Amino acid sequence: MMSVQILEKDEDSMSFVVNGITASLANTLRRIILSEVPCMAIDDIMIIENDSVLHDEVLGLRLGLIPLKTDLDSYNLPEECECKSELGCHLCRAVLILDVEAESDERIVYSKDLVPEDPNVAPVSGEIPIVKLAPGQRIRLEAYAKLGRGKEHAKWQPVSACIYRYLPEIKIDSERCDGCGVCIDVCPRRVLAKSEEGKIEIKRLLECTLCKDCMTVCPKDPPAIEVQGNQNSFIFYVESTGVLPVERIIREALKIYERKCSEFLEQLSVKLNVSEKD
Ligand code: SF4
Ligand code: SF4
Ligand SMILES: [Zn+2]
Repeated sequence: MMSVQILEKDEDSMSFVVNGITASLANTLRRIILSEVPCMAIDDIMIIENDSVLHDEVLGLRLGLIPLKTDLDSYNLPEECECKSELGCHLCRAVLILDVEAESDERIVYSKDLVPEDPNVAPVSGEIPIVKLAPGQRIRLEAYAKLGRGKEHAKWQPVSACIYRYLPEIKIDSERCDGCGVCIDVCPRRVLAKSEEGKIEIKRLLECTLCKDCMTVCPKDPPAIEVQGNQNSFIFYVESTGVLPVERIIREALKIYERKCSEFLEQLSVKLNVSEKD
């Protein structure tokens, strides 16, 4: 039976334990989150004026990497939009305007200087520096943001971290353990502690990194402590770049996985029907 236990959660990050799955399923979820859940990023730019020290191409790369709030319910992926236009329409493209001039003093252009036409597609943070302008320099451009997927370019990756690791399992042989405490001292994560009765206790299981140093230093042969990863339970940590709430990213990943399974089943039935007729 699969079960999920949420360990910590806020708007941008979540850690949770999933029991009852295999490493291949855990990795499938990780890869879908990284490369298939769409989000907004600047993809085309029309530069009207650029007096800054940055070449247009470098400026374009910097703008592309600014995380933008994503409204998945109002925008289409360009390849799925009915407009079929290279430039896009209001359903598959959002415009942001940048018009900044340094007058008598130097001026840093920040992401907050990008003015979005749609407030739902604005930079996640206004404090990302783009370029420094010397007095008299100016940048004027129109940037076009589109939905895309991480497998096309990392700028469309909705997460800054998506990792999983095996859930640790620690067993202490209480008959052979003499409570010397060497394993407690060597543990870099302070997973183990001594009880009032002098017994070794597991205090912070989820902190264990499976380094097995405690097994190595145990003077008993074989060690009186055994550490291993549970092959069917995983601790996930997912951190959004802020483009979408982390919960939405996970939900979207599961929807994509469900869609892929249905497509696979559909194709399989078509092929089976054909071969039956043959
Ligand atoms: S495996 Fe490493 S982290 Fe885990 S309890 Fe042992 S020493 Fe600590
Ligand atoms: S090092 Fe071995 S014998 Fe000593 S307390 Fe830890 S498990 Fe017990
Ligand atoms: Zn369109």
